[in-house]
Amino acid sequence: MVQSAVLGFPRIGGQRELKKVTEAYWQGKVSVEELLAKGKELRAHNWKLQKDAGIDVIPSNDFSYYDQVLDLSLLFNVIPERYTKFGLAPIDVLFAMGRGLQRKATETSAAVDVTALEMVKWFDSNYHYVRPTLSHSTKFELNTKAGIKPVDEYLEAKNLGIETRPVILGPISYLYLGKADKDSLDLDPISTLDKLLPVYRELLAKLKAAGAKQVQIDEPILVLDLPESVQSKYQGAYNSLVGDDVPEIVLATYFGDVRPNLNVFKGLSVSGLHFDFARVPEQFNEVLTVLSDKQSLSVGIVDGRNIWKTDFAKASAFASKAVEKLGKDRVFVATSSSLLHTPVDLESETKLDPTIKDWFAFATQKVDELVVITKNVNGEDVADKLAANAKSVKSRQESSITTNPKVQERLATINESLATRKAPFSERLPSQQEKYKLPLFPTTTIGSFPQTKDIRVNRNKFVKGQISAKEYEDFINKEIETVIRFQEEIGLDVLVHGEPERNDMVQYFGEQLDGFAFTVNGWVQSYGSRYVRPPIVVGDVSRPKEMTVKESVYAQSLTKNPVKGMLTGPVTCLRWSFPRDDVSQKIQSLQLGLALRDEVNDLEKAGITVIQVDEPAIREGLPLRAGKERSDYLNWAAQSFRVATSGVKNDTQIHSHFCYSDLDPNHIKALDADVVSIEFSKKDDPHYIQEFSNYPNHIGLGLFDIHSPRIPSKEEFIARIEEILKVYPANKFWVNPDCGLKTRGWEETKASLTNMVGAAKHFRTKY
Ligand code: GLN
Ligand code: ZN
Repeated sequence: MVQSAVLGFPRIGGQRELKKVTEAYWQGKVSVEELLAKGKELRAHNWKLQKDAGIDVIPSNDFSYYDQVLDLSLLFNVIPERYTKFGLAPIDVLFAMGRGLQRKATETSAAVDVTALEMVKWFDSNYHYVRPTLSHSTKFELNTKAGIKPVDEYLEAKNLGIETRPVILGPISYLYLGKADKDSLDLDPISTLDKLLPVYRELLAKLKAAGAKQVQIDEPILVLDLPESVQSKYQGAYNSLVGDDVPEIVLATYFGDVRPNLNVFKGLSVSGLHFDFARVPEQFNEVLTVLSDKQSLSVGIVDGRNIWKTDFAKASAFASKAVEKLGKDRVFVATSSSLLHTPVDLESETKLDPTIKDWFAFATQKVDELVVITKNVNGEDVADKLAANAKSVKSRQESSITTNPKVQERLATINESLATRKAPFSERLPSQQEKYKLPLFPTTTIGSFPQTKDIRVNRNKFVKGQISAKEYEDFINKEIETVIRFQEEIGLDVLVHGEPERNDMVQYFGEQLDGFAFTVNGWVQSYGSRYVRPPIVVGDVSRPKEMTVKESVYAQSLTKNPVKGMLTGPVTCLRWSFPRDDVSQKIQSLQLGLALRDEVNDLEKAGITVIQVDEPAIREGLPLRAGKERSDYLNWAAQSFRVATSGVKNDTQIHSHFCYSDLDPNHIKALDADVVSIEFSKKDDPHYIQEFSNYPNHIGLGLFDIHSPRIPSKEEFIARIEEILKVYPANKFWVNPDCGLKTRGWEETKASLTNMVGAAKHFRTKY
């Protein structure tokens, strides 16, 4: 029979239980035992949910306290020495690698001060993983200090009477996604594969001994453009991972097209292959050609990256094609990827318009969908379910909510001149210098200041109607004033209002734009304990009225320094929402560009003439493979940004900001922003700095990590700036942190920014 398989389930809990307990642990409010017990409870809940739904292949080891890639680094002993020397408990080593740790000495323990490892986007998603960081001195071995997570979690499920399939990131993807540590910059992580493989095999043997019959090994890099030298590693590597003493391997890829790497799969000694047909159905015929007579095919058909209901008729027809070719026993119907990227449960959405709600499926619903499609393919009677599904699909196709003729008319007016500033940067720069008279090494921040408990409490009260709009506005104004006064006090040059009124940088705009729906509990993990609640693009997008002018104008009224207007760019609004799947992303992005253009122009009219339009998601949206799709994307992404920002005068200074990805300066040139700030504090490679020195406009290379509570000293800032100045010109040099400060506390924010400004002043006296 055809079986249903889930590749991974969200681990955060339906009420963000994981975030709450983890943060409480970091604050010393709960013990490690309580933390671990909550993890165990969440895992049990997820396994039972899937079992009760009728899923045949349920994943384990998809849980993590921080990040599944980081878990592997801990397990394989890929732990830079700077984290091991303090004698921390394994879970604290894990958190120190993930988020840094700075702790004063106590009577019983020495002081700790380490920065976090680098964190980057997971393929084209908004999930961030912690980069495996290898040195010449890395010695792979199973680090059993905290048990053996995949084995322990497999047994934990087994004890509950639930057979699971452990999920592990494959060795080649693990290394390829990693990097060399700063002491070993000449090391190519892939060159260590032969040393890592025996440790993988040891792990697999332990899983087999525990009773696991099958494991899911993820090799998602097989949807990237891989050099021959990496492709050619697969045969040998996987040959070394099969045998009677290890479980069967199902090799999983997702998020893209494997066809350019098709050779890799031919004759690969694994028992099954999984592909993402939700994203690339066109690869079906070709991937069939690589299957041997015995291998099974896992048909990823329920989308793990979006929230639209699966069309049962289409999905069943697709899976049936596979059954026709391979027979029922060799086919799995599966989620396209892990469901990590979708919210947990649609049932907790109490405020959604029922018509629209009927179009959605969150992780819990997707599990049910998988069961129905599998039953259908197996010939069981699910007629009711099919009929209900067909009705929902039709309701969305025919709905008038999704189209707005006015927006479509305006879209047709977009041309090059609408998307081009009035003069080139070389002419804009002198007029801006004249207007703002900023010193060398101008200092600024990325926008948000600490979102304190007080802010969240007051926002909640306002949402629940417990305080009036006026009371809330007064509260926000007070927060803005505090942030402005603080920035003046420490001598920052270009100020921000601190974004206290924003729940989230995308949701805040989604809630004010027409064409969006939003959830009350649709949280998705972004990194560690940071979760986001992506809005959902359901129809054509437009801006009914001003969104940010009031707060910006108030902030500017308090100070003589320029205060930046702060907007989230079109591509980021789109990428960090769940996009429509019935209209191209280009169209959605340009619609957002037009809506934001109105806001930018209104800000300028109101006297806000430094305006930052954040595009942190621009890199993550880059299609995973080179080629036409990628060059088209770069064109429409840049065009959308320019549509938003080109209506202003030459002396209005447009800023933009990017973070948490390996950004190519060439990709951002076409945005033509006057100043960009980028996350940079973890970039050690001097070549990378060099690449940015050729960027024509002005840049602030982020000087400190905002994910970590750690405070860099003034001397540390000076040393870092000196290092960058070796290759990077002083006259383009802005001084800023890596990103916004919303997740930080005030204490560390004050100290870090004061030290940063002190360092900038130090250099002003030298140039
Ligand atoms: N302006 C936003 C902030 O400061 C930018 C956040 C981001 O890039 N992720 O929070
Ligand atoms: Zn950022």
